[in-house]
Amino acid sequence: MEPDQVKMVLVGEAKVGKSSILARYISNTFQEFGTPTLGCAYHTRQLNINDKILKLNIWDTAGQERYQSLSKSYSRDSKIIILVYDITSYESFKSMKRWYEILQRDTVSPTTIFGVFGNKADLIHNEEVPITEVQKFANSINASFRKTSAKENAGIEEGLLELCKRYLKI
Ligand code: GDP
Ligand code: MG
Repeated sequence: MEPDQVKMVLVGEAKVGKSSILARYISNTFQEFGTPTLGCAYHTRQLNINDKILKLNIWDTAGQERYQSLSKSYSRDSKIIILVYDITSYESFKSMKRWYEILQRDTVSPTTIFGVFGNKADLIHNEEVPITEVQKFANSINASFRKTSAKENAGIEEGLLELCKRYLKI
């Protein structure tokens, strides 16, 4: 059976941990200092879910986090969009909401599946974004919300699997 090709993109402010989430998911690695340079536009991972084969093509920004500079082709045709903020930065939460509005306006189809990841969950003592506020936003856009930590490898595998299942409607 031919795998179903699924484009997934990660968006959010610089430094929230998008590349780190991807590095954890693809190669189970984490770098404390500096952005892991993965070196190409997207990474792939194949998943078998029940009797289905999904080939995820996951796109990461290469430092074009300013809204204007990310081309529309980045998110065009994406089936799953993961909005990422850093739980220790309220600013990154606001930025993530602006990202959503821009994607919504430019490229998104009504069937696109959204996820919200509150990353750096290991830094819980410095949490700046009230969970009720995130939950409210996530509900309003029909997104699944979860906290993740690329550092401690928490929530990422489960979060991506959940989004793939929603995509497959299972
Ligand atoms: P990006 O700009 O969104 O791609 O963010 P990066 O993946 O480059 O991460 C920015 C910084 O945050 C790096 O120093 C990472 O080591 C750090 N970082 C990423 N994820 C986590 C996490 O879950 N916990 C902690 N404590 N630091 C993280
Ligand atoms: Mg990055």
